[in-house]
Amino acid sequence: MESIDSIALPERDALWRFVLERSGVRGLLVRLDESWARVRASADYPPALADLLGQCLAAAALFTGHVKMQGRLSIQLRADGPVPRVFAECTHLGRLRGIAQWQGDLHRPLGLSQLGDDRVLAITIETEVATGREPRRYQGLVPLEGERIETAFEAYFDRSEQLPTRLLLAADAVHATGLMLQRLPESREAGSEGWETAVALFETLAESELLESDPQSLLFRLFHQEGVRVLDTRLLGFGCSCSRERVANVLRSLGREEAFAAVEGREQAEIRCEFCGTRYGFDRVDLGRLFDESGPGPSRLQ
Ligand SMILES: [Zn+2]
Repeated sequence: MESIDSIALPERDALWRFVLERSGVRGLLVRLDESWARVRASADYPPALADLLGQCLAAAALFTGHVKMQGRLSIQLRADGPVPRVFAECTHLGRLRGIAQWQGDLHRPLGLSQLGDDRVLAITIETEVATGREPRRYQGLVPLEGERIETAFEAYFDRSEQLPTRLLLAADAVHATGLMLQRLPESREAGSEGWETAVALFETLAESELLESDPQSLLFRLFHQEGVRVLDTRLLGFGCSCSRERVANVLRSLGREEAFAAVEGREQAEIRCEFCGTRYGFDRVDLGRLFDESGPGPSRLQ
């Protein structure tokens, strides 16, 4: 326990990386409060859908701690039906954002089959190569089977890393949390006993306990006999990557006619970022500049 005590553990919006030294298992624990409140407040989500969005946000944070990368990792659930899209993203700097789309009434608990047909889970990693260059993009796709989102993520890691992985994710109106365990590759020769013990302990954890306990007591309660040791703690927070330049690119991609139609009869077209609520205004002069490839007139005369 001294190893846990020796690191100052913040109470909110953080990710803990730990190992269970006696079982050959690594793990991650995430707890989101403020960032989750920001994401949740961006739309009037039905509670059942908010739970699922919170779980995906917690998972995005867990996976960013799991995969070494410089860039952003996103989780997307796509379906042809009442919930066409759930999106959660975390950057290597720990900036989180998320959004979900839905139609009609959704009831709790929201099983994955209720999202719609042709359900797919996409995990995308965009790595920054160098400033000004296109990021390198890797996307893994798996069908969304079963009812629980954890099962889909476990299947994803099973395929992509061939290492047994277990996950528990939970969200309510205040917290979004997650715990992930993975067997260390080097523990394979040591037999499966350590992994099985860790999983048996993991399975005693209820969603309510994951939501309500402070991370320090939770890790100690579950894994003190397995020699739990926190490796590091990373602070997380809400963050959006939108900018006037990105909105300008979207307008450009619409084409001149459609972009100008948006200012028809008003002073300016207002584009609101669906993630953070920031509003970007473009008037006729702005749009004129946007579509004038050769730059503003006077400079050409010089
Ligand atoms: Zn934004």
